[in-house]
Amino acid sequence: MNRLRFRRGRGIHLSVIFTAVVVLSVTLTAALNTIVGFEAQKDSLSKNTLDLNQITANELSVAVDTIFGSMTQSLDSASAHFAISENRGKQASDWLDFVRGSMSFFNSLALVNENGKITAASPDNGNLVGQVLKSSAAKQALTERKPLVSEPYVAVTNRLIVLVSQPIFDGDGTYRGFISGTIYLHDNNVLDKILGKQASNLNGSYYYVVDKMGNIIYHPDKSRIGDNVAENPAVAEIMAGKGGHMKTVNTKGIPMLAGYAIVPSVQWGIVSQTPVSTVTDSVRGIVARMALVSMPFILLLALLVIGVSHRLAYPLRRLAVYASLLNKGETHKVPALRLRNHLIYEANELNRAVIDAFRVMGDRTEALSLEAHTDALTGLHNRRFFDSLLASWDRQQMPYAVILMDLDRFKSVNDTFGHLKGDEVLRFLAARLNAEKRDGDYACRYGGEEFVLLLPFGDKDLAYQLAESVRIGLMKADSPIGRPVTLSLGIADYPQDGASSAEVVHCADLALYRAKEEGRNRTVTYRGETADV
Ligand code: GH3
Ligand code: MG
Ligand code: MG
Repeated sequence: MNRLRFRRGRGIHLSVIFTAVVVLSVTLTAALNTIVGFEAQKDSLSKNTLDLNQITANELSVAVDTIFGSMTQSLDSASAHFAISENRGKQASDWLDFVRGSMSFFNSLALVNENGKITAASPDNGNLVGQVLKSSAAKQALTERKPLVSEPYVAVTNRLIVLVSQPIFDGDGTYRGFISGTIYLHDNNVLDKILGKQASNLNGSYYYVVDKMGNIIYHPDKSRIGDNVAENPAVAEIMAGKGGHMKTVNTKGIPMLAGYAIVPSVQWGIVSQTPVSTVTDSVRGIVARMALVSMPFILLLALLVIGVSHRLAYPLRRLAVYASLLNKGETHKVPALRLRNHLIYEANELNRAVIDAFRVMGDRTEALSLEAHTDALTGLHNRRFFDSLLASWDRQQMPYAVILMDLDRFKSVNDTFGHLKGDEVLRFLAARLNAEKRDGDYACRYGGEEFVLLLPFGDKDLAYQLAESVRIGLMKADSPIGRPVTLSLGIADYPQDGASSAEVVHCADLALYRAKEEGRNRTVTYRGETADV
């Protein structure tokens, strides 16, 4: 029993377990959904971003290619103009100014003769004309004598430039030098005009241009112009002549989603890229909003689960209460417990069955205990009850008086009227005893045709009055056999006549014996060895 109580104290309530399990599974499911959702969103957004960056790179490459076509064309027509020797004279600078102003592709234009000497320049700041170009780009133009686009290099003007040149051949095909246009990479230039509008935007995306050697020609961060980024995987692809998209890491170590494309006419490459963190941030935002929206539902679900689990656990709690009542032997209380309808069919059935079982058990126990303490013939308390009552009074040292009685000549009643009539007489006397006794007195069938009255807190005088009343009443009553029935009575009390019920009853028996001896139909009170009438 102690062990049971100990266990009960330590156990976790079923409703708590239900709730914990369901809340845990809901949370795990939500977490799993969030993670899967996050990954799926990230994948799809990453893919979209890669595609978008490639589209951007492609579009820009077309734009740059078109511009380069126009630049080459304009240099080409300028070169045709200077093929005629008179045109390389004094007005050449004006012409260059006109070309530069009308096309505005180049930051500067120069006319260079076959020896590398500048013969005209626009803008002409006075000291350029007459200088001999030493740069490898100029030397390459002079030796190769074909249209060229140089790598970025630092020019005599100390600017980082790209040189675009077109050879000049006169009418008979004699090489006369070249006309060159330059792009000042750090200044406002034609690339800014094409690319500058959206070179970088708020979400961290930006694009840049590299030449075929991996040198940055254009970048929204001007300080990066001129850097070589050949080791960047996307740039390496461009240098290998390929377009595409990939996840890469930029020179600053930031993971990027890059799309890239080649500008065919110059073999430059354009990289358009977005930091991976932009994508994850926005996905995180989406997922957080999703979580926030679903939060009230999860909370509602949790509350629902707590309520339901409480109801589910209720019948089991009831059963636990029943079981503890059973344990304490208080089965009679169980049927009084309110039977409530539960959600679960089995729980209802179980509860009903247990309550019914307890009710039957309680009824049976009651019947058994009544049966065990009642005399079947007369309905009075039986001898077993009498013995156990006196044993308990002995323990309590409870004062009482006892009247022991025996029907006179009962044998002859049986003999004359039959045993059944005799039984009727016994029931008749029992009814009289019940009617005569005080509330709280006990009337018992002591055995055969012997009866006993127990008077708690009663003394001999009180007992005598009652005994006489019973005796005289019986004698005068109409008995079932149609003639008077009498009985003899013996009285003793506790504690006067003995230290135990056995002694007291023995004394009453002696008094009864005396009553028989002295002629029957009388009451004798025990008074020591000599009992008086
Ligand atoms: P007395 O007590 O006056 O000396 O005479 P008696 O005839 O009553 O003598 P005794 O006590 O010896 O006889 C008791 C009789 O009671 C014997 C038995 O047949 C009868 N008796 C005992 N129990 C029952 C019972 O349950 N029913 C009936 N009908 N008779 C019973
Ligand atoms: Mg007898
Ligand atoms: Mg008798």
